[in-house]
Amino acid sequence: MRLNGKVAVITGAASGIGKATVERFAEEGARIIIGDIQQELGEELSATLGDSALFQYCDVTDEDHVKELMSVAVSTFGRLDIVMNNAGIVGSRGPISSVEASEFKATLDILLYGTFLGIKHASTYMEKQKSGSIINIASTAGVTGGLGPHVYAAAKHGVVGLTKNVAAELCRSGVRVNCIAPGSTVTPLVAAAYVDDHNALDEVSEIVKAKSPILNRPGMPADIANAALYLASDESGNTNGHCLVVDGGLTTGSSPNDPPHSDPMPFLREAGQHGL
Ligand code: NAP
Repeated sequence: MRLNGKVAVITGAASGIGKATVERFAEEGARIIIGDIQQELGEELSATLGDSALFQYCDVTDEDHVKELMSVAVSTFGRLDIVMNNAGIVGSRGPISSVEASEFKATLDILLYGTFLGIKHASTYMEKQKSGSIINIASTAGVTGGLGPHVYAAAKHGVVGLTKNVAAELCRSGVRVNCIAPGSTVTPLVAAAYVDDHNALDEVSEIVKAKSPILNRPGMPADIANAALYLASDESGNTNGHCLVVDGGLTTGSSPNDPPHSDPMPFLREAGQHGL
């Protein structure tokens, strides 16, 4: 019961990574406000957890919704210990010359502005409480280039930057801010992006497994939920401003196509030869 007595708010919590985190946090004793625009799925999930959870409709691009989400956590469960800013979409795709300004803004609105609103309205309660853990969901597309559509990558780099900067401010009030950068993870979002069918989880699982450097293991929502559990719990009490990459090693330079026993990072070996 690593989250016993703690109260969490999770956005985009009715599906994928958010849903897995709700379930993991509940197993560890947390009470949770499930925020999402998917009302039916959110209410279904909430019903499976009885008095430990409550669904609240929340569009993360609407400041009043986000403010209300935090307020409902405090009025229902008495405090606010953990906020996970997770809601997301893939958003605008295609060559840079084809990205429409309106699509650029709409994608940034959900991924970056929504995260800003979540941090802002969590901080007002957590600063007074002198404790709290804010967890922002970034992406490997937010720590290196070439791993996602342009606007998605820009937004997720923004999430990583915002995390580090706000962490430097809020730690003085006892509030920690960290982020997680998942690699490809088997969720409806990825199924929709890869095979145009958000229900095709088995099919997309095989694709994600083939892309992962780790043998025979696709990234799963539970992997991200477990990382979030560490950042949410007191075990990470001295971890602040950190970006926890959970990608099977993809961003180390490892490739699923490397033959067994090959040097997985030739660029490091070459750098060593030059005395770097
Ligand atoms: P998911 O299964 O689609 O879950 C995301 C949830 O957020 C959905 O219920 C979605 O509803 C909801 N949502 C979308 N726009 C929203 C808004 N404006 N306000 C509130 N909720 C909204 O996707 P996921 O893969 O779990 O993604 C969760 C987070 O992980 C995202 O931030 C994503 O960028 C990040 N991530 C995912 C992966 C991956 O491989 N899966 C990798 C790196 C990072 P709709 O379905 O109606 O849009």
